[in-house]
Amino acid sequence: MKSQSPPPSLDARYSGISPRLVKIAQNAKDKLYSNKTVPESVPRRHGVRLPPDTTGEAFDEAIKALRKALGEDNVVLNDKPLVDGWYLEHPNTHDAFHLVDQEDLVSSATAYPASTADVQAVVKWANEHGIPIYPISMGRNVGYGGTAPRVPGSVVVDLGKRMNKIINIDAENASCVVEPGVSYFALYDEIQRRNLPFWIDCPDLGGGSVLGNAIDRGVGYTPMGDHFGAHCGMEVVLPTGELLRTGMGALPGKDGADNPTWQSFPAAYGPYSDGIFSQSNFGIVCQMGFHLMHETGHQSYMLTFPRDEDFPDIVEIIRPLAQKGILGNIPQLRHVVQELNVTGHPKSHWYSGPGPVPRDVIRKHASQMPCGDCAWVFYGTQYGDETAIKTQLDVIKSAFSAINGFKFFLPLDVPPDHYLNDRALVCSGVPVLRELEWLNWKPNSAHLFFSPITPTRGRDAQIVHDINVRLHAKYGIDLFPTLCIAGREMHYITNIIYDRSSDEEKRRVNALMTELIAETAREGYGEYRTHLLYADQVARTYNWNDNALMRFNETIKDALDPNGILAPGRNGIWPKKYRGKGWELLAGDDRIHKAIGGGTIAPSRATKAKL
Ligand code: ADP
Repeated sequence: MKSQSPPPSLDARYSGISPRLVKIAQNAKDKLYSNKTVPESVPRRHGVRLPPDTTGEAFDEAIKALRKALGEDNVVLNDKPLVDGWYLEHPNTHDAFHLVDQEDLVSSATAYPASTADVQAVVKWANEHGIPIYPISMGRNVGYGGTAPRVPGSVVVDLGKRMNKIINIDAENASCVVEPGVSYFALYDEIQRRNLPFWIDCPDLGGGSVLGNAIDRGVGYTPMGDHFGAHCGMEVVLPTGELLRTGMGALPGKDGADNPTWQSFPAAYGPYSDGIFSQSNFGIVCQMGFHLMHETGHQSYMLTFPRDEDFPDIVEIIRPLAQKGILGNIPQLRHVVQELNVTGHPKSHWYSGPGPVPRDVIRKHASQMPCGDCAWVFYGTQYGDETAIKTQLDVIKSAFSAINGFKFFLPLDVPPDHYLNDRALVCSGVPVLRELEWLNWKPNSAHLFFSPITPTRGRDAQIVHDINVRLHAKYGIDLFPTLCIAGREMHYITNIIYDRSSDEEKRRVNALMTELIAETAREGYGEYRTHLLYADQVARTYNWNDNALMRFNETIKDALDPNGILAPGRNGIWPKKYRGKGWELLAGDDRIHKAIGGGTIAPSRATKAKL
């Protein structure tokens, strides 16, 4: 395996890797690149992608004005060859996991503000010039569109590069305030450096923005895994450039100080407005407060269940355990095929035939692995002192013993490099990189998430699972379900892995996604988050009472963003300027399909003329 250039370290770059993980990151990069068959970049076929309805001259003038406002070096044109990079060296020019043509979902330029005042200046500039902007924090929203703007030619506002301060860690209140460019790695390292007795809560990978992930309503795995739920107070630049603080932050502190309860009480007085700034395009969040968890004892464990048909019974047993608070965190339930791919071996290591890895092949390999020949693998963690953990584990084991053949493993029962040891870290607030391993499944690997929510009930979970099994088989794609199961709902997350260099594969993936969204919606289930290409389709499944929710969102959008400059189309919310003019990609529209071969998802000529 050829050694690649070293990944950036956190000492040198805000988006780099903790020094403790440098070797692991190097190894992950080397492995990923050894499985890559496409060149790092190819010459661009087109020049700078202009924002819609903007001439070259008007764009040049606008860029000149933006450079004047932010400084020459802080506005960069997107005119160089596009590089997909990898997790720690990701682009801010396009979607690194492009499903459509690499050059389609691209920005025209990137702006790097250094302060809230700079962000206000960018927003005012966008209004003046009628140019759409697309804010990102760190841009590691992989599987949901990365850093790509929904409207090609938008100016990406990369907040993280120059706004990456941990503004405060309050040891008495057990809380912090961060800017968009603070990653889980950075916050964790700072808490260790200050020797504070707190945990952070991180998602499966630690390189994302604490703030960005929370406003996209990402999840983690300690008892504080609801990231948006754990936030307390925001500072937001509205699409007109006005500045807002939410919660107690709206009440000025004494002598111009921040309000002393800004990070203590999230709701404060009047309507709770924070929610409208999550998964939306109603504002740019420049600071956000979070509660931190106190360190505690913890014990991770793995359960295995022998039969595929055990699935609904497992869910039924989890429900009361979770509702009663006996399960310590949001556990993950994974199909055994994931045990194969999280080893980091490519698919070809396990199976060289056509189509998805057959069940008997998975069985044969699993029987040689620590999990043994099983169908479902459950990763959980219990918290508290030793006695409390033992009591909880006794209750859990007794509940699951209703399923014949279930097995229980502690980290000591598996080899040191087993995934359970990485789960133990994530579930005790230590950010890691292990989840990158399954990206080696295919050459030039990319992935999308399909993420419906179901009640925590066996029959509902089974309906969504059956749809996934059937449609993945129809389109010849391996099914990788990971279920994050709470007491009343579960996130059924499917990881759809594809080869970025294969248009044929991308087309199958697109057909699969479109059909998955439509079929699950017909059964009454909806996604909690989706790739920006499917935002319209998913948003339109939430159409109760003649799309009342979307009409409500559009009313807010038009009031807050009359010129429609902020992230048009994000989460399916289009401002008046774009609405109904051919931008929406609804079910049955085959523009994504066509764009995969080099077309564009922008409106066709006929529809564009109406803009
Ligand atoms: P992360 O690095 O945490 O995965 P991103 O920076 O990619 O997150 O953010 C996820 C998405 O959330 C972005 O694509 C963007 O649409 C939106 N977003 C991110 N940061 C902000 C912000 N500070 N204000 C408004 N929207 C944001």
